[in-house]
Amino acid sequence: MAVMIDGKAVSARLRQKMAAEVAAMKEAGVVPGLAVVLVGENPASQVYVRNKIKACEELGIRSQDYRLPEDTTQEALLDLVGELNRREDIHGILVQLPLPGQIREEAVIAAIAPEKDVDAFHARNVGKIVQGSYNFLPCTPAGVMELIRSTGVPVQGKECVVVGRSNIVGKPMALLMLHENATVTICHSRTRDLGEVTRRADILIVAIGKANFITKDMVKPGAVVIDVGMNRDENGKLCGDVDFAGVEPVAGYLTPVPGGVGPMTITMLMGNTITAAKLQGRREG
Ligand code: NDP
Repeated sequence: MAVMIDGKAVSARLRQKMAAEVAAMKEAGVVPGLAVVLVGENPASQVYVRNKIKACEELGIRSQDYRLPEDTTQEALLDLVGELNRREDIHGILVQLPLPGQIREEAVIAAIAPEKDVDAFHARNVGKIVQGSYNFLPCTPAGVMELIRSTGVPVQGKECVVVGRSNIVGKPMALLMLHENATVTICHSRTRDLGEVTRRADILIVAIGKANFITKDMVKPGAVVIDVGMNRDENGKLCGDVDFAGVEPVAGYLTPVPGGVGPMTITMLMGNTITAAKLQGRREG
């Protein structure tokens, strides 16, 4: 039976350390500040934003919440981003994606000052990650790295297979594993015989967005399996991309959904906000 990787516990440990760091920074006169911008009424985005603000409160990070109407123009959003870029008390800017159709996401990401880009989506930060010298890591892949670290399983030299190649999860995930000296294979929707590739993985990371897609016959016995997926099954229940019941007896370590990768993403965002505040080293305005 696989050992469960407890994302809530790992996350709580990290948050405890972060709260102490924030307290020390406050003593020194710097209060980390995060601006969270939500455009429109997307229900999932509203939940994410609420959770991010709650996490800030828990850690003593100052959050500023901007809610803009669904019909906000790109120009208006870029104006707000420009203003937040100039604000000395705001160290991190998070524009919740997806944005309504009239706004080009790439234009908004490009407008965020790279030193305030706590999602690490800006091309400058992506480039730094490729080069292996970065200040911020994208939150979900960084959270996955912490979960793998928590197992104590060494990554160096291992076969790692990442399923999914999105800019926010799959691609940066593969790079982080490469930096840790894994031998990395990236799979996607055009991969031929996916199971043949995933069965080679000592560490299997799945981010496709298809409920219970990875079945036990696709998993090497004893593998570390990280399930990034967040889906609803046919009964409306939250589930991952990995068929948990089938894979649990085969894998060595496994993340549950919920309670695995999910709690880590926001924690890593808090970490990036603290890093941003340290780098900018500015006092509260
Ligand atoms: P995207 O839809 O952007 O990317 C999905 C990737 O999966 C694509 O690269 C796609 O391939 C690949 N894929 C789709 N179908 C298959 C298939 N049959 N076989 C192999 N590969 C396939 O999704 P995201 O990366 O944004 O998210 C993935 C999942 O992770 C979602 O469930 C999302 O909700 C979840 N998520 C969870 C987070 C968390 O905090 N826990 C954070 C972010 C995401 P191709 O490129 O060829 O189309």
